Amino acid sequence: MTNLSYGLTDKLVLVTGASRGIGRAVAVAAAVAGAELVITGRTIGALEEVDDEIKAAGGKATIVELDMKDTAAIPRLATAIEGRWGRLDGLVANAGMLPALTPVAHLQEKDWDESIAVNLSGQWHLIKAMDPLLRAAPAGRAILVSSGAAVGSRPFWGPYAAAKAGLEALGRSWAGESEQINLRINTLNPGGTATTMRALAYPGENQATLPQPEDITPAFLQLLSPDCEHHGALLAAREMLGLTAESRLARSRKR
Ligand code: NDP
Repeated sequence: MTNLSYGLTDKLVLVTGASRGIGRAVAVAAAVAGAELVITGRTIGALEEVDDEIKAAGGKATIVELDMKDTAAIPRLATAIEGRWGRLDGLVANAGMLPALTPVAHLQEKDWDESIAVNLSGQWHLIKAMDPLLRAAPAGRAILVSSGAAVGSRPFWGPYAAAKAGLEALGRSWAGESEQINLRINTLNPGGTATTMRALAYPGENQATLPQPEDITPAFLQLLSPDCEHHGALLAAREMLGLTAESRLARSRKR
């Protein structure tokens, strides 16, 4: 699919955590594909830079300062979207944070609370607030951004892994409740991607060996497309796009 063939022209797409990393790249790619964006995060200066990038690409975005821990602000955003557009065509629930990597038994309560608040509870508030707007769209699409940490065993990643596992379970329930309408809800694991969060988790790693955020945006655009047939699926961007270890190595040699 080329960018314009995703069928996103004039679709309204909300990307949370769009100020950097994967969210930023997805917002810009969706704008290039013709969508109008609502971009959120806590860092207004960084969102303004994303807005500039979107404008330079001929797109349009609205910036909203939003902390996912501010549970009253999330329904306020939904009310504002309802008033201005009356619908939401695409939701990319991407905002996330990585708490300190610590043994479960030594965790500080604040680290547990923040991970659950941002990575799980905030996502539920977002789903609850945006569900009616997605249903009001002719072909609503939602992507919940998860992680490989949600499954298997990852020592020291407890609060992040627990929140992402909870998010996946929430996504399965939400999708199961939305079978009869043209709403597609999927969970996407981006896989290790060169971002600030990844650098925090793996300091010293050569990020040139990883997919860049821009490399994985086609997986998001496919799931946002009105043609998307996945529903209730847990997908991996690398598998969707055939980003094998060999192709990554070849790319890092070119860089
Ligand atoms: P980054 O740290 O680069 O970006 C995180 C984004 O989330 C930023 O825009 C940040 O904006 C926003 N954010 C963080 N905390 C909050 C908060 N309290 N309220 C609102 N927004 C917040 O991370 P990535 O781009 O790497 O991660 C994006 C998603 O992908 C996350 O859900 C992450 O768990 C997931 N993921 C990433 C992987 C990777 O290898 N990079 C692998 C697997 C999953 P601001 O600071 O302005 O609020």
